[in-house]
Amino acid sequence: MLDALFKPRAIAIVGASVKELSIGNVIIRNLQKYGYKGAIYPLNPTADEVCGLKAYKTLDEIPGQVDLAHIIIPSKFVPQTIEDCGKKGVKAVIINSAGFSELGDEGAALQKDFLQRAKEYGVRVFGPNCQGIINSDPELNAYCNFTFTYPEPGHISVVALSGGVGALIMQALTDLGIGQRFYASNGNACDISIPEIVRYYGDDPETRAVVLYTEGFSNPREFLEVAKEVSAKKPILAMKAGRTEQGAKAASSHTGSLAGVDIATELIFEKTGILSFTDEGEMARAAMAFATQPIPKGNRVGIITNTGGPAVIATDVLVSFGLDVPKLSEASIERLQLSQMAEAALENPIDVVATASGAHFRGALDVMMDEEGIDSVFINFVTAPFTDTHEVARQIVEVSRLGKKPIVCNFMTDLSQERFRITHGILKAGGVPCYANPSDAAKALGALASYGKLRARDIGEPRAFAGVDSARAKKVIDEAREAGRSVLSATEVYSIFEAYGIPVAGWAVTADAAEAAAAAERIGFPVVVKVDCEEIDHKSDMGGVAVNLKDAASVRATVEDMQSRLGSLGKLNFFVQKFLPGGRELIIGAAAERELGHLVMFGLGGIYVEVLKDVVFKIAPVTELEACEMLANIKTAALLDGVRGERGIDKQAVKELIQRVSLLLTELPMIQEMDMNPIMAFADCVYAVDGRIRI
Ligand code: ADP
Ligand code: MG
Repeated sequence: MLDALFKPRAIAIVGASVKELSIGNVIIRNLQKYGYKGAIYPLNPTADEVCGLKAYKTLDEIPGQVDLAHIIIPSKFVPQTIEDCGKKGVKAVIINSAGFSELGDEGAALQKDFLQRAKEYGVRVFGPNCQGIINSDPELNAYCNFTFTYPEPGHISVVALSGGVGALIMQALTDLGIGQRFYASNGNACDISIPEIVRYYGDDPETRAVVLYTEGFSNPREFLEVAKEVSAKKPILAMKAGRTEQGAKAASSHTGSLAGVDIATELIFEKTGILSFTDEGEMARAAMAFATQPIPKGNRVGIITNTGGPAVIATDVLVSFGLDVPKLSEASIERLQLSQMAEAALENPIDVVATASGAHFRGALDVMMDEEGIDSVFINFVTAPFTDTHEVARQIVEVSRLGKKPIVCNFMTDLSQERFRITHGILKAGGVPCYANPSDAAKALGALASYGKLRARDIGEPRAFAGVDSARAKKVIDEAREAGRSVLSATEVYSIFEAYGIPVAGWAVTADAAEAAAAAERIGFPVVVKVDCEEIDHKSDMGGVAVNLKDAASVRATVEDMQSRLGSLGKLNFFVQKFLPGGRELIIGAAAERELGHLVMFGLGGIYVEVLKDVVFKIAPVTELEACEMLANIKTAALLDGVRGERGIDKQAVKELIQRVSLLLTELPMIQEMDMNPIMAFADCVYAVDGRIRI
């Protein structure tokens, strides 16, 4: 429980200062200015009074119980102070001071030291090197932070690792006039973690939406579990910075180079139903809609406008979010004729025209609310000076309050004029999310709708496959490990594939030309011969792959040629495989991602992966729905269906293959990297023809 942190009844400020421009002073002033209802105990070695409050020399002297302590002293004194806090019974501390793990070994040792003592006394640590928290509850008004924005009470709770971004989001929400519930920015996050805070927000009945900014997680598995739990209860809007890195790294496509790249955070967002943003302003604006409006049940938008062009812009943006602006029913149009002016356009958008009054807006709104073919409403409201804009606003508010369908409003005006400020105030106070231009408003509605889709997406459970022989696969890996090898041989790789029911073309591993020729006879011509050698990674680059060998003589000649050219590289075996021409080459790869498990990658092979970097990732285990999404979400998805008379591929077989690979990875976590490149896909079957596994 983080109540001591977020709902402290008494706060000690260790390092309280009389200097106005110091953190130890600003925090006290913030608490006072925000109207903190609990007791504030400044600690200062010399002053008797700080910010008009009695100051204490030590924690011992403080008469009452202290829930929370701010620690704003040089880092070397922090371990002792934590111990003092423990003795005093302080339950949580916010260490604003820097000089810990962010500062190399010495700092890290200090951090370890104070953490040790904190654990001993059961003191929870927020930070170090952090801002702090805010709780806007009017019964408490806890501003335990040194920032300068004073949020109104509300229902959005913010958590940000970076103080700078946290403050930015808080300011953006405040500028939009949106109240906030909790705020937390926890710097080094050595103890109290983001997942823990998100869970706390999830349990808080006053928090309706969570806004999260992160640069990754030290414990992604913990976050994944918490996110699943919390996003089932309330929307989480999140932004992960460092996306271009994702692009760059995913670009290198080869599974091996994936390690260390944090594309996992975004994948966690996707897997757990978190709405992901790439623009912090867009996220804050979306939060405004989430704070007041219901989630649309579908993707059909009704537009009401008193000016033409902005509705066109909005439509484009809405459509880009996968929304639809459908025709209205005949009944709705007839009903509109009763309320609208002759010049009005009674379609979708409904153009009520610039002279429209509150009654005209209301007539259009009522129709949109009742129209079964509409799930949400977008309003363009330009403050035509020859209309009663206050009345228009009141009508919008009345309909919005019914909470039937989400409404967002593009409110175009000049807020320096009092009359329009009042109009704006009516909308705001009425809980109508207002935006200053059609694109911003449309993106906010798009976010609501995207979230509706995310919630409706039932990811399902990973599939079980009959006949999988995981014991056999484990044995193969154990033997390789005992032999001290990390790269598996062809025999081992294909044995594992077979154990998991992964279709492979007929194959044999042979030691020389005679064996290879005999194996080729058994498999049936034409065949492929590939060199199999631990030292050789990309066989074809070394001239170690010969395809379409039609008889025993060419198999023998090929093997002898490879022996003479490549023999010096190491012990060579020869992998003989059925030649499968004319398939489409696909790639499935996987890489272990710290403690999260494995990331699975899918794409079209060849230039598509190498040049276009057209691949999709998921976190294993991959469900049927996720496998479908993988196939659908590559840019070149259309190619899987066949183009220009070419037949499409067996997509169901590919989806199954992905799920078998996913199962394999979940059951064999010691696999570090795996590559099937290529998989040969045909209209009615697929085969893995090249595989690599590193353990
Ligand atoms: P590597 O990736 O180590 O160079 P591969 O086994 O992937 O070796 O072979 C290189 C290429 O040869 C494949 O991308 C594919 O185009 C072709 N190839 C390999 N095996 C077969 C096969 N059994 N049938 C048809 N083409 C194949
Ligand atoms: Mg290959």
